[in-house]
Amino acid sequence: MSITTIPQLNKVSLPPLLGGSVDELKTWVQEQGQPAYRGKQLHDWIYHQGVRSLADISVFPKKWRSQVAEIPIGRSNLHHRSVAPDGTVKYLLQLQDGQIIETVGIPTFKWKERRENPNALDRLTVCVSTQVGCPMACDFCATGKGGYQRNLERYEMVDQVLTVQEDFQQRVSNIVFMGMGEPLLNTDNVLGAIRCLNQDVGIGQRNLTLSTVGIPGRIRDLAQHHLQVTLAVSLHAPNQTLREKLIHSARPYKISDLLAECREYVEITGRRVSFEYILIAGFNDMPEHAIELSQCLRGFQTHVNLIPYNPISEVDYQRPSSDRIQTFEQILKQHHIAVSIRYSRGLESDAACGQLRASKT
Ligand code: SAH
Repeated sequence: MSITTIPQLNKVSLPPLLGGSVDELKTWVQEQGQPAYRGKQLHDWIYHQGVRSLADISVFPKKWRSQVAEIPIGRSNLHHRSVAPDGTVKYLLQLQDGQIIETVGIPTFKWKERRENPNALDRLTVCVSTQVGCPMACDFCATGKGGYQRNLERYEMVDQVLTVQEDFQQRVSNIVFMGMGEPLLNTDNVLGAIRCLNQDVGIGQRNLTLSTVGIPGRIRDLAQHHLQVTLAVSLHAPNQTLREKLIHSARPYKISDLLAECREYVEITGRRVSFEYILIAGFNDMPEHAIELSQCLRGFQTHVNLIPYNPISEVDYQRPSSDRIQTFEQILKQHHIAVSIRYSRGLESDAACGQLRASKT
């Protein structure tokens, strides 16, 4: 199924309607001289019918429709779409100011039912970008190599989810804020998007995961919002020295301070924190690293996701052998750390973790 594109509305300066709650949309229609119930209709058409222009809302009076036809709802244009052999779909979306971002739709199939219905999906996950580019410039990640342009607005994050939902013609069940960008450098807009995705699009908070490399003080601040979303922290190393080599922004932020904030997050929200650990051959994948990691996380209510490194052209890190990966996993298990290996989806079309950049290949 293809997505229809609409002409760009560069000249319109009114804020987009997407991202608004029922009450905000009711207020907006009333400001336009319409009865409040039209706000509820607008909400339904934006979030559940996928309308892209106010001119297409057939329940609205014709005259008013033509008056407001140019006011942007806030949807992006599809710039490019590619499908990996595993069914993962990568989208390049063009925003109203012409910037391009990447979004990934990740279907999980019901293998048993697939024989009768090849499209039976168990889950549909969207990997949402939170910034255009990324200022963190982690050594191993393609996004940072392209520099940083700007934060995304909440409607631009919600649009990514609606785009995938429409393309698959299937409700999105899970969202991971793991696309381009660092969510905790754009916390207000991310919180706005979480509210909207939860209350307006109807996705349970427990099905949302926010991934961060860690910005001093921001995990503690986030805890005060008492969200039920899962917090994933990109740790990638068991000690400060190794971590700084991979993540230059970690220099002023000691691993012990990061872990202390994570412990506070668990205490305040009652939710466990998960840690992401990219395995890079000969760098952080040795048995002693696994032992050190388990010591770091002792007594912590947590889950570790081991991510075998996905290659990018700019650096010559290698993915470890599967023996090495399994040994690392076994050592964590022996130390009673809940652990799983996450082989990234979409590797063949550069849609996997760390490979996102605003280009087609
Ligand atoms: N800035 C956030 C979210 C974006 S990155 C963060 O750092 O968590 C999402 C995940 O992909 C992070 O865990 C990140 O470290 C991981 N990642 C980045 N580059 C990767 C690569 N080349 N191979 C595997 N995972 C990678």
